[in-house]
Amino acid sequence: MIGKKLLDAKNVGVDFRINGEWLTALYNVDLSVKPGEVLALVGESGSGKSTFAMAVMGLHNPNQSHVTGSIMLDGHEIVGATEKEMEELRGAKVGMIFQDPLSALNPLMKIGEQIEESMDVHDIIPKEKHKERTIELLQEVGITKPELVADQFPHELSGGMRQRVMIAIAIANEPDLLIADEPTTALDVTIQSQILDLIKNIQAKKNIGVLLITHDLGVVAQTADSVAVMYAGQIVERGSVEQIFQTPLHPYTRSLLRANPSLDTLNDQLYVIPGIVPSLAEMDHSRDLFLERVPWMEKEAKEAVPDQPVEYEKGHFVRGTAWKKFKFQDGYVEKGRQDIQEKGETAK
Ligand code: ADP
Ligand code: MG
Repeated sequence: MIGKKLLDAKNVGVDFRINGEWLTALYNVDLSVKPGEVLALVGESGSGKSTFAMAVMGLHNPNQSHVTGSIMLDGHEIVGATEKEMEELRGAKVGMIFQDPLSALNPLMKIGEQIEESMDVHDIIPKEKHKERTIELLQEVGITKPELVADQFPHELSGGMRQRVMIAIAIANEPDLLIADEPTTALDVTIQSQILDLIKNIQAKKNIGVLLITHDLGVVAQTADSVAVMYAGQIVERGSVEQIFQTPLHPYTRSLLRANPSLDTLNDQLYVIPGIVPSLAEMDHSRDLFLERVPWMEKEAKEAVPDQPVEYEKGHFVRGTAWKKFKFQDGYVEKGRQDIQEKGETAK
């Protein structure tokens, strides 16, 4: 169905209770994924990406966290759903792949048993088909000796093979949405590419939606259709891959692009973004928090900014207006980006 959203998150907030105090980790997050779309959620470590993924999976501990707003998953509201409701949705509607497959797999159970167990939770695949389906799934994720691997334990496999097994488990119940949280970060570069290709192939073959979480814009360029850039628990920019890579607006997006070794073609020297992501206690979400890390934007960093990004061009949203004044300094002079400045002045 055209325009139908698989995942539709609106105004999502997550607060954590830390040492008796409630602190905001996600603030006013709007994101959506359509069937067949790969949305990359990017940002440095500590930006809140995994916090968002966990909210979609309904995995935040209700005693230590508050999730607010609305997260619609294929027509089901996740915010406020009971654990029983979530158990039915997890696996069946949404599957998840984590950064570290070893910690997500049971070390004492054979691979085949673990894949079968993931099917036992739901009645989607008939019990008598579980063995056969396990072999099929292992083939589907590119494992050439599925019978052998099904009979092995996680520690007997390489990191790349374990990630393939995780993907098999994530898709076992044919979910419509796959969340991959830094799925290749722990792998060697050559294996990274294979795993990304695999995710992309499965996505295309089944026409499912993918929320791909990564700090690596090279991964985004290789895999995604659209991009959401998260900083300090807020979305600062979102748009299509073309829009984000060709006309990055927000200072954070532009800094991330500049700091990416595989994408930085403008400089011989690798750019390092100064400063660090603030801790939750330091986050004042009424401001554009990244500007604190831009030495020459002290004044702008103190100004209040509307929560929601505004539309710069169709489908391309950016938070605040500071981007109009942002230029790299100290030797990192912008090249070929002046047009953005000028176009921005005339944009609503
Ligand atoms: P990312 O995945 O982008 O690296 P996270 O979502 O893991 O970022 O973390 C965002 C912020 O929330 C960090 O400051 C982190 O310390 C904090 N955080 C994440 N999970 C919890 C939790 N369960 N309890 C308290 N703080 C948390
Ligand atoms: Mg994370």
